[in-house]
Amino acid sequence: MIYVYTESNDRKLKKVSFEAVSYAKAIANMMQEQVCAIAINTDNVESLAQFGADKIISIENEALQQFSTNTYANVLSEVAQGSIVVFPHTNDASSVASFVALQKNAALLTNVTEVPSSVSPFTVKRKAFSGKGIMTVSTTNPSMCITVLQNAFGLKENPASGTVENSSVNILPANVIVQSTEKSSGKLDLKEAEIVVSAGRGMKAPENWGMIEEMANILGAATACSKPVADIGWRPHGEHVGQTGKAIAPNLYIAVGISGAIQHLAGVNGSKTIVVINSDPEAPFFKSADYGIVGDAFEIVPKFNEALKAYKG
Ligand code: FAD
Repeated sequence: MIYVYTESNDRKLKKVSFEAVSYAKAIANMMQEQVCAIAINTDNVESLAQFGADKIISIENEALQQFSTNTYANVLSEVAQGSIVVFPHTNDASSVASFVALQKNAALLTNVTEVPSSVSPFTVKRKAFSGKGIMTVSTTNPSMCITVLQNAFGLKENPASGTVENSSVNILPANVIVQSTEKSSGKLDLKEAEIVVSAGRGMKAPENWGMIEEMANILGAATACSKPVADIGWRPHGEHVGQTGKAIAPNLYIAVGISGAIQHLAGVNGSKTIVVINSDPEAPFFKSADYGIVGDAFEIVPKFNEALKAYKG
């Protein structure tokens, strides 16, 4: 049995969880195994069957309301009684994966992008060096924890029986107690968003972000920004993407007035399609762009928004 750790937000499964199940199903098919998804305090767990979960273990426990790496890892190690556990490559899931790998004395394969080229020895490609390189890694350890990079393998529908089993677990006390959390409300989760509209220092001042937010609203996108923009307080730090910010991999990334420094690219180069709007034809971002518009953002973005509205209308 190949186990999958699924992640949810406010009891709703994240897209990365369906991707992890899709990936687990692909390797299960190669190894003539089945897939068991594990969901903690999550609604609508049956939907995991659509992507290949033969079995779903649903755990409801008050003590797991607050995420804690060691508590969640202990639960996973207890419930996932198989040698392979697949995780989405999010911050929380990756931290759990490393603990579970230690507890199970398993190989830890992170940032994996493809199904293995061989299952014996298990050989896979993974993104390395902040996404600049691709590494092929191999292990002979039959126990493995694998984290799957967002948007790399993608969603693959593969309906399975998805028998749901409710499970109770032993909970060890968390070694970190979260006192409080602040959540931004009404905004799309940047890491989950399919479309991201991002802007940088080329916007000149924070009051010019209206057109960026308008574009995001029209497209149903999340907003992001470059590091200096967050550092000088034009935008919240939660929007900062890049090597030292969030790493994202949306289907569409629109960058306005961002130069495309290597540290910025490190967090966005997993995006499926990149559109760059920049007044400098020599801006490095154009080298990574699928589509580029050379020109003044203050002229282009309002026209772009009008065209989008007309198209949508
Ligand atoms: P700038 O470099 O100032 O570029 C502004 C761009 O806007 C230019 O290309 C310019 O041509 C264009 N422009 C100007 N006016 C207009 C206009 N009217 N219309 C259209 N375009 C216009 N950066 C990150 O973003 N994320 C990170 O995680 C990150 N981590 C870092 C880590 C380290 C250790 C270091 C040293 C740096 C890091 N940086 C990071 C900073 C990075 O090197 C760049 O300095 C930063 O990304 C530049 O931000 P920017 O493109 O918004 O600004």
